[in-house]
Amino acid sequence: MAASPVRMGPNHELIVPDDVVIPYIEGDGTGVDIWPAAQRVFDTAVAASGRHVEWVEVLAGEKAFRETGSWLPEETLEQFRSLLVGIKGPLTTPVGGGIRSLNVALRQLLDLYVCLRPVRWFRGVPSPVCHPERVDMVIFRENTEDVYAGLEVEAGSEEARALRELLRDRFGWDVRDDAGIGIKPISETGSKRLVRAALRYALARGRRSVTLVHKGNIQKYTEGAFRRWGYELVREEFAEVAVAWDDCGGEPGEKLLVKDVIADNALQQVLTRPEDFDVIATTNLNGDYLSDALAAQVGGIGIAPGGNINYESGHGIFEATHGTAPKYAGKDMVNPGSVLLSGVLMFEYLGWNDVAQAIVDALERTIEEGIVTYDFARLRPGSTKVSTSEFGHAVAERITLALAPERHGEEARS
Ligand code: NAP
Repeated sequence: MAASPVRMGPNHELIVPDDVVIPYIEGDGTGVDIWPAAQRVFDTAVAASGRHVEWVEVLAGEKAFRETGSWLPEETLEQFRSLLVGIKGPLTTPVGGGIRSLNVALRQLLDLYVCLRPVRWFRGVPSPVCHPERVDMVIFRENTEDVYAGLEVEAGSEEARALRELLRDRFGWDVRDDAGIGIKPISETGSKRLVRAALRYALARGRRSVTLVHKGNIQKYTEGAFRRWGYELVREEFAEVAVAWDDCGGEPGEKLLVKDVIADNALQQVLTRPEDFDVIATTNLNGDYLSDALAAQVGGIGIAPGGNINYESGHGIFEATHGTAPKYAGKDMVNPGSVLLSGVLMFEYLGWNDVAQAIVDALERTIEEGIVTYDFARLRPGSTKVSTSEFGHAVAERITLALAPERHGEEARS
């Protein structure tokens, strides 16, 4: 039977065939190294589960520009639109080109409003903190609004002059003549759908709390409103199963606790008291800082995964969160952990939890055994430094080995 795409069911549930078509973007720079290593691991884990993925390459970035003259061909967008769920390696941001960032463009064009960034530590990964095992958080970062909306004008431009005049005449606000000006939209719609997704995720996985991270003490009508709308949503839609801190004095009983913390405080507390944080829902820029700061606590960007999701349309693009690391491109050196774990997120999103778990277990076992790429090897004396492809091979091998006892059992029974 031919492979078929993921579809959206009538009740907003994903329908995932056992033989599924998934589009992928290999990625620029080190994409040529990490993608083949990751695909080998994915194929091993998927085959072990009795399912199959037909990978369809779609073009974006330098490869697309070379072959089609476009950084982000319409055909690529069409594939992601129609096949719903895909995965990508890192993409170069074209300097001076028409598109500010291909990643931001993909998120905006498909309205992928959640940037999902789970952050946890894997045994054996070198970390700069004493207790990385206490970090187990899942960040829901709003992906379409805030200063990322791209609404800004350059200092000295005609647009800046016109905007300054409007601000002065209409609002009485004085902005310096030589200022660039950016606009930060934060809407009730955007905030509530993000917090809704975080709450649903937390409830479905039995997590303890959702923390709204904001800078509402200073930016009252944007960041402050995000906090207010978040709490409003809890009372309007989740009263049976979740409760705001102020409504329970921090004693939620059986319910999910929803609390909030100001962004600067959050950045120190995730370091000093990581066990107080579980699921985090936050605005775009805060989420950007928080994701990388947290990733550093558990081993850095070589291993941090990410997903961009629209839970209503079903669209999801899962991605390595690091860049193209051009100086290592084609050298078979870098860590494929980020794209591997993004695949794990993707398989969880598809409901293939057994596949996801098999990859996580094998990855952890490989690192625990001291088989690591250069980035971890330099921080872990005595480890065995391997190439990207060797690392992929080692993880795939451990998936197969983990299944071996079962196979032996089957053989013995037959
Ligand atoms: P980068 O590519 O992430 O590289 C910065 C450093 O991070 C590397 O020099 C390396 O550190 C480490 N690193 C990156 N990937 C790694 C991996 N797989 N394994 C181990 N270490 C890894 O950041 P950049 O140099 O600022 O950006 C280069 C290009 O990537 C730019 O065009 C940028 O726009 C683009 N970018 C794309 C994405 C994306 O597609 N999601 C994200 C960020 C940046 P050491 O040198 O210390 O070993």
